[in-house]
Amino acid sequence: MTQFENLNPPKSGTPIRVKDGEIEVPDEPIISYIEGDGIGVDITPAMLEVVNAAVERAYGGKRRIEWFEIFAGGKANERCGERLPKDTLKAIETYVVAIKGPLTTPVGGGYRSLNVSLRQLLNLYACVRPVRWYQGIPSPVHHPELMDMVIFRENTEDVYAGIEWAQGTQEAGQVLDFLNEKMGTQILTDSGIAIKPISITGTKRLVRKAIHYAVDRNRRAVTLVHKGNIMKYTEGAFRDWGYEVAREEFRAQTITEEETSNGASLDGKILINDRIADSMFQQILTRTAEYDIVACPNLNGDYLSDACAAQVGGLGMAPGANMGDHVALFEATHGTAPKYAGKDMVNPSSLILSGVMMLEYMGWNEAAHRIEKALEATIEQKTVTYDLQRQMEGGTKVSTSKFAENIVKNL
Ligand code: NAP
Repeated sequence: MTQFENLNPPKSGTPIRVKDGEIEVPDEPIISYIEGDGIGVDITPAMLEVVNAAVERAYGGKRRIEWFEIFAGGKANERCGERLPKDTLKAIETYVVAIKGPLTTPVGGGYRSLNVSLRQLLNLYACVRPVRWYQGIPSPVHHPELMDMVIFRENTEDVYAGIEWAQGTQEAGQVLDFLNEKMGTQILTDSGIAIKPISITGTKRLVRKAIHYAVDRNRRAVTLVHKGNIMKYTEGAFRDWGYEVAREEFRAQTITEEETSNGASLDGKILINDRIADSMFQQILTRTAEYDIVACPNLNGDYLSDACAAQVGGLGMAPGANMGDHVALFEATHGTAPKYAGKDMVNPSSLILSGVMMLEYMGWNEAAHRIEKALEATIEQKTVTYDLQRQMEGGTKVSTSKFAENIVKNL
């Protein structure tokens, strides 16, 4: 039994376990959740209500989630004077599956991003973001239904490695001296400095996860997105190591674009190709349907997943997960939207759809499917939160809690 300093785990329920490389989910799993800062108070209760109701409807009481509230961000700071207590990390590792609301990160100073810390400390190396369109969602493009992609974004290195020295500091001066004097560079001496590492280990485990996902779910293609024409030894290496994983570990299930252009037939295999990041931003608009699973280094993945989400209705509709080998932390992709905090106004769909991903990860597909259908029905009835209503002709604006209530009615 795991001991916590300031948390009291539920008395009933059973932890999810990992056995022979797979997660084993009991009928009453303990799942930890973080409410989150800002609009966390609005969207997290909505998600809990919808997930609980869907599980109840799908399994008639045979299955149930025992929720365990754990703390990070403002609420953790109030309780124990730190924003990311050790207890929280321990609980996420112990109970394997967790879900969280957004957490505040100060820009340009203050404390380090809690989201980045969570991902790095728990080694949640893959940020997984499915992006698909739900019937009735207003979109800025003519054919949002063509978008059905899952983005695997590397979560621990590249710019997330967080190696930076501010302009004018002694450390930045030392690095600049080393580079200019010893390595022959000519960097302006009033520069700030950042280093982006991309490793074989980080790349291969990410691409492996993406290809595994494609194999398990019978998907069509995995595209490696990089800026290897400019940064050959980081972004370019990401592409090369990605192809190596496909060739060496998934030879029987994959075929490269180069092989098909040399005449090899696809033969039901997963197509592995690569695209330079800037061209990919065009392609998602002009050749949307060609793209399926995408694997990218951290920064490309960040930009690309928001751009893809915009095509299907914006961040309010985009779910996400941070995954390690087994531990998975599901989360909304948007932030804390502080101006709406506590106003019962915002769209809870991103977190609810993260709950759908979580249920799928647990193998509770019936409950997951019910939520997707009920969400779609609610949107088609045009009773939606302000963000969707302002883009919808004839829509009726409802609160976060009313929207969740309507989803439950439609389950
Ligand atoms: P944001 O919180 O995502 O909000 C930006 C805008 O997006 C909002 O003003 C709102 O637009 C729209 N929006 C976001 N969530 C919405 C929802 N659920 N329903 C409807 N509209 C929604 O981004 P930010 O203002 O740049 O960041 C605020 C804080 O969140 C920062 O501290 C940032 O570091 C943090 N953050 C955390 C995470 C995370 O925890 N994973 C992720 C990103 C940002 P309109 O005003 O136009 O309606």
